[in-house]
Amino acid sequence: MSPDNRVAICPGSYDPVTNGHLDIIKRASHLFDEVIVAVVNLPIRKAKTLFSAEERVAFIDHATAHLDNVTVEPFSVLTVEFARSHGAKAIIRGLRAISDFEYELELNQLNAAQAPEVESIYLMASPQYSFIRSSGVKELATFRGAIEDMVPAEVAAALKERLGR
Ligand code: ADP
Repeated sequence: MSPDNRVAICPGSYDPVTNGHLDIIKRASHLFDEVIVAVVNLPIRKAKTLFSAEERVAFIDHATAHLDNVTVEPFSVLTVEFARSHGAKAIIRGLRAISDFEYELELNQLNAAQAPEVESIYLMASPQYSFIRSSGVKELATFRGAIEDMVPAEVAAALKERLGR
């Protein structure tokens, strides 16, 4: 890695990855030399995930295979620690609505206190994806709702298999 290489991380639970996440990852890949999608490997604040870290990483790997400068890794340390250890200057997060803002502001201040040299950057959700969240997609899948436009085909199939009643 050259010292000028601009690396960013896109941290999240991705349980599972949605087209909204993928839109943010793709847009980040246009802004940075290298983007690392960092998949939380520990249920830090949420209940157990539906998909294992390996499954969540694999879904993103397959869906971003066409993006040359994107890689995917699980992590189980502080987000800023992961950023530092990979030489990342930025943490990219997506913002959908006011409801995201309050949580992100708090997270931003916690991260900035731990690592002031790592900047958090927020990309606004694209309108066509702004209503998509992993928890909503899982709920829809449980009741056999249509999720094909919200997640990659592989993810839709896995959700149906695991949750479809
Ligand atoms: P976390 O559990 O850390 O909130 P998520 O996997 O839910 O992680 O989301 C990871 C990041 O992607 C967050 O910044 C979140 O706001 C963003 N995000 C989630 N869904 C969308 C979407 N539909 N459009 C844009 N950004 C999104």
